[in-house]
Amino acid sequence: MSGAERLVRQEDVETVCLELLRRGRRHSRGTADALRLAVDLVEEAEIVTTALPDLLTWQVADVAAGRRAALCRLVAAGVPEAVAGAAMAALAKGAAPGGGVMRGAMLVDVHSGERLEADQARGVRVSRMDLLPELEAELQQQLAACGLNNRHVREALVLAAKVLSAPGLVAELCWSDDPDYTAGYVAAPGFGYQRFPRLKPAGDRRGGRAFFVDGRRTDVEALIRYLERTPVLVTRPGRVLPARPWQEG
Ligand code: AMP
Repeated sequence: MSGAERLVRQEDVETVCLELLRRGRRHSRGTADALRLAVDLVEEAEIVTTALPDLLTWQVADVAAGRRAALCRLVAAGVPEAVAGAAMAALAKGAAPGGGVMRGAMLVDVHSGERLEADQARGVRVSRMDLLPELEAELQQQLAACGLNNRHVREALVLAAKVLSAPGLVAELCWSDDPDYTAGYVAAPGFGYQRFPRLKPAGDRRGGRAFFVDGRRTDVEALIRYLERTPVLVTRPGRVLPARPWQEG
């Protein structure tokens, strides 16, 4: 498995470690040869708090319509069409050198379209974020009402909450590398988390993330440090809105 993480109170560390170990052993893509568990102490004063983004699902007829819709939302978020289109094409063919799947995200400058991450196989790995335990039940209820209460959605929402709270971040694009999971999303500070149930064909193992940044106004090193190191706790809920049909044109 890759990188399950929690941000918890000291008294909950043991219980959560056990949960993570169990989860690692049960992981759907086969039994792991090794499990590594690390516990870091985080000072409460370091923790940044944020809200979950509102979630909206756009119903799309097929993958091509899903990708057109996602492109359209990226443009609405402030990413030039050529830059958004190039990032989508990179994810579709495998954004790591040689066409593989990256372990983290591409970091794309919205002005030049240039990729800013130092290592194009690793990318930027968002880490150190979690949902306040008191919000978990409410979120699960909201998602269940729309048939979306699965780990993919819950974890991606928390990751997107941290990403959207980052300085200089314009938008995020994601679709999974899990061959059985075809949904993806575009998230932006202006409009939350917008899902598209079909962003890639079933069976496709290529997936990835792109973070679009305003490279002229952003200290890119500080942004990467924030995404990878600053502890962020989601302490406020978002709305889960009813799905809507996507209208083209
Ligand atoms: P997933 O939604 O977990 O299937 O991940 C989809 C893609 O997002 C992966 O193929 C990675 O390229 C990227 N990714 C996964 N986890 C992270 C992370 N913590 N930070 C940044 N990118 C990630």
